[in-house]
Amino acid sequence: MDITAIFGSMVFDEKAMRQYLPSEVVNAMQNVQKLGERLDPELADTVATAMKDWAIAKGATHYSHWFQPMTGTTAEKHDSFIMPDGHGGVITAFSGKELIKGEPDASSLPSGGLRATFEARGYTAWDPTSFAFIKDKTLYIPTAFCAYGGESLDKKTPLLRSMEALQKQAMRILKLFGNEDVSGVRINVGAEQEYFLIDEKEYSRRPDLIISGHTLFGANAPKGQELDDHYFGNIKPCVKQFMEELDEELWKLGVLAKTEHNETAPGQHELAPVYTTVNVACDHNQLMMELMQNIARRHGMVCLLHEKPFSGINGSGKHINWSMSTDTGVNLLSPGDTPYTNAQFLLFLTAVIRAVDDYQDALRISVASAGNDNRLGACEAPPAILSVYIGDELTKVLEAIESEKDYSAGQKELLRVGVHALPRIPKDTTDRNRTSPFAFTGNKFEFRMLGSSASISDSCTVINTAVAQELKRYADALEISRSFEADLHEIIADTVANHRRILFGGNCYGAEWEARAAELGLSNLKTTPDALSHMCDRKNIELFTSNGVLTEVELRSRCEIMLDNYCKITLIDALTMLQMAKTQIMPAINRYIGDLADTAIKLRTVDAKLDSSYQSETLATLCDLASKATKAIAELEASVSEAHAATKQSSASVCRDRVLPAMHKLRAAIDASQKITDKQYWPYPGYDELMLSVR
Ligand code: ADP
Ligand code: MG
Repeated sequence: MDITAIFGSMVFDEKAMRQYLPSEVVNAMQNVQKLGERLDPELADTVATAMKDWAIAKGATHYSHWFQPMTGTTAEKHDSFIMPDGHGGVITAFSGKELIKGEPDASSLPSGGLRATFEARGYTAWDPTSFAFIKDKTLYIPTAFCAYGGESLDKKTPLLRSMEALQKQAMRILKLFGNEDVSGVRINVGAEQEYFLIDEKEYSRRPDLIISGHTLFGANAPKGQELDDHYFGNIKPCVKQFMEELDEELWKLGVLAKTEHNETAPGQHELAPVYTTVNVACDHNQLMMELMQNIARRHGMVCLLHEKPFSGINGSGKHINWSMSTDTGVNLLSPGDTPYTNAQFLLFLTAVIRAVDDYQDALRISVASAGNDNRLGACEAPPAILSVYIGDELTKVLEAIESEKDYSAGQKELLRVGVHALPRIPKDTTDRNRTSPFAFTGNKFEFRMLGSSASISDSCTVINTAVAQELKRYADALEISRSFEADLHEIIADTVANHRRILFGGNCYGAEWEARAAELGLSNLKTTPDALSHMCDRKNIELFTSNGVLTEVELRSRCEIMLDNYCKITLIDALTMLQMAKTQIMPAINRYIGDLADTAIKLRTVDAKLDSSYQSETLATLCDLASKATKAIAELEASVSEAHAATKQSSASVCRDRVLPAMHKLRAAIDASQKITDKQYWPYPGYDELMLSVR
């Protein structure tokens, strides 16, 4: 395989553009992409025709506006390129108008009350900053999705707006530091994706996996991840073939698929691409998740993207590595070589630290979902508390600045911290802290609270906007400063003094941290409804509106969609459990109870002195568990009805306080029953069969 030849071969990228478009149009397109200029509508027809010709030459027959509605996945509607020629035949056509704007009647997509069905039309608008591509004989055009009134109904629009907000504020800071050569700031993201692969045959025997994407019942297997033998373990042939095909398909689509390895839990894996511009990274992550699922099927496996497919072992997350760089190639989160560039670095660093502290709740909300509630705080996952890890060296630097003391980095030279000379910062030599939810890792931050199925757009939007907000505060102060260096020093020192509570280098999984964090006043929003109750706090509304990222109406609609989604998912899980328990599991337990009872009776008839303690003890335990399960079923049914009857606002609390506890009770009784029930009777494959199914 010639990797360099296939890479991007299905993308209408610069190379394809140069082949199909005159150079002045390519240049115009590049200005649109790099500088956010508008494309002259007259050129749109030329671009559309070129795209169509290129796509048809590659075997495409259809085009589709591809967008990312509030469902969190992607949406598409296909139109063929054909047009009647008036003589009974067809020609192929694709106009600039069709490229720029689509009008899907997308009334069935979530709008959070923004759109009544009678005014159902929404429209999709071409996002020229992300390249069009071909998949399944269709030309995909990345688009933003809005209501007719212009309110955004997707995850892409706020992300693009947040990029603009951050670029604007970062440029103000860069100007203050005299970076005259810089004309743009890029936001870079690399999203590491975790997933499970299980055997398709075992999967198809589990209604919970099919309906809910995760197991709702299942006793722990004798062996889970205790031996740490899966992490970085050698990759099974079947998985290897899957990875090869996945890489190839992703490369064709210009996705920089790079690092692949086994993860901690049996059957768990990770794929990390090389980082790229945030909105492209977001598109690419969506493509990656879609291809993983499709390609796994071709190999007789199913890819699980749920954040907690199995209880008792690690769930799957998604780490987003985030940084900013100039269009001249300077990473703004990379410590520089001179004190002056370091002052700039420290300012960007402190802006991020302050952003996390000021907007802990917004960050937490950005990862809130019913699925991720199963994971945050469990096993490997960071807790629901935000904190920032920057390593010992940087902590010492910041503390020295704050206290105006000398900074000495161990064996390294003594560095003076003063008004005129900010220290040289040694490259990070400390160990990584794997438990931190927001860790500085040398030249980027890694946000680790996302669930594996989430779109990265929400979290990236919050990080971008929150950092833009802090940079704006700094720029407002520094632009009118009469003593730049002194004020700069002051800003950094003040930020450290006021936001040091968010810096934490210890074990974030420990119970002590939870207690300490509470003392420090850090927020600890454990569930999605808890988190969402803060989404429309005045502070958050101001953050998004003042930076032009979301209007108040848009923010409120998003909150409604997220709450609604939480309730729907929880109730689907609950109904799936009820169906499994009532129609398959309880009847199976009943059959086994009958069997045991029959045997006990038979034994007694043969000889009353025979020991039937196995039968009677198992019977007693099973009958007790069956009775507990029956109570839990009744409780779950009642709570589900209560949630259905509740108002939109209170339904989420009913789900959290009544439905979920009843689900846990039912699961506990049934999982305990599974452990003592004849396997032949049990209707579903167990955890060992599921997790070790791929050979
Ligand atoms: P890890 O040890 O966590 O796997 P890596 O260095 O392999 O860390 O990087 C993980 C991800 O971070 C990759 O997607 C990588 O491309 C991305 N990454 C590396 N440098 C940057 C950066 N400056 N900005 C954003 N992402 C980055
Ligand atoms: Mg990694």
